Amino acid sequence: EFSRSAKLNGIGISEIIRIGTEARKLATSHDDVISLSAGEPDFSTPDNVKLAGINAILTNQTRYTALDGTAALKAAIRRKFQRENGLDYAENEISVGAGAKQVLFNILMATLDPGDEVIVPTPCWTTYLDMIRLAGGTATVVPCSEETGFRLSPEQLAATLTPRTRWLLLNSPSNPTGAVYRASHLAALGEVLRAVPRVGIISDDIYEHVLYDPAPFATMAATCPDLKPRVVTVNGVSKAYSMTGWRVGYAAAAPEVITAMAIVQSQSSSNPCSISQAAAIEALDGPQDAITSRRNAFRSRRDRIVTGLNTLPHVHCTMPDGAFYAFADMRALLARPELKRKGIIDDAALCRYFLHECHVAIVPGFCFGGPGYLRLSYAASDKMIDDALERMKTGVNRLL
Ligand code: PLP
Repeated sequence: EFSRSAKLNGIGISEIIRIGTEARKLATSHDDVISLSAGEPDFSTPDNVKLAGINAILTNQTRYTALDGTAALKAAIRRKFQRENGLDYAENEISVGAGAKQVLFNILMATLDPGDEVIVPTPCWTTYLDMIRLAGGTATVVPCSEETGFRLSPEQLAATLTPRTRWLLLNSPSNPTGAVYRASHLAALGEVLRAVPRVGIISDDIYEHVLYDPAPFATMAATCPDLKPRVVTVNGVSKAYSMTGWRVGYAAAAPEVITAMAIVQSQSSSNPCSISQAAAIEALDGPQDAITSRRNAFRSRRDRIVTGLNTLPHVHCTMPDGAFYAFADMRALLARPELKRKGIIDDAALCRYFLHECHVAIVPGFCFGGPGYLRLSYAASDKMIDDALERMKTGVNRLL
């Protein structure tokens, strides 16, 4: 009889993917389902990037490549770090994988031993917690409340460090809260980290270019140059260039970390897709104007959805500074006796109600360690956002 390995205990397909599947299933019988659950831009990959992919096929760039990325792509990534972040990395300090997701998996697999702890501020992308567990480590979650901007404070960090802490995992702008760590926040965390040389920092910068905050994007390796040897900076082309399906992500770190990551990748997937790597070079080196126009589109959608959410009875939503998610506080609504009487006792039940009664797919906050909240992706058209809000309003009023 088939039995799963103990490694998979407590680990399942992500709840976000499950909700997306349920929404698609519902859409086969109802053509009005609106999905605000996906974590990907709804824009197309820019034409110049698509053409680079086609050209790679036509010129037979269709074989195995160097294990953790072609020399040409690594050179483009080094230029990117230099140009956008003021960071100098050598070729042996860069690793490329099939998405930032695989890159993060490689880092954790390559560095964690049983008992090693990774500090993860929550709400967070829950994949972090499952990956840490799969890699044999222990996630130490630190709840960060809305009152502190959903950001980890230096005091919280200092109180959470133990002799077994291996990494601090930061994600700015954040999925799901949109919280952004400015240089001043990172400098304050850096001050604490300076005293604990054994602790590394993983900086997940995947939403770097989906930033509305007027302050420039900040990342730990650049803000605290003395800590750079301890920082692994993770990024990719998925969100910045609408290339989620191409699967290219990368990391910059000390050569020892990069070499260990290459071992993990060599025994799992080998190199990322050759065609996608060629396209990623064009994304990084080619014209960058789509980033600005798409960011502006996301900003106006953000204003639209957050304003709309705040008109729903008993709902409160702060204005996120980055990424493309609204993280709405439904706790006051969920506390209403009318909802309790109807069996809607938590964020998961409320999402089921919105999906089945209003045909709007939304992810409950518990998936991210933020129960009582909902995450609404606004990588959707204005019309979809307006229709979803209208239906949610009717749905909420029907409950009260
Ligand atoms: N990090 C965060 C916070 C994300 O939300 C995602 C995707 O949803 C990723 C990393 C992974 O992106 P990819 O594997 O497409 O590069």
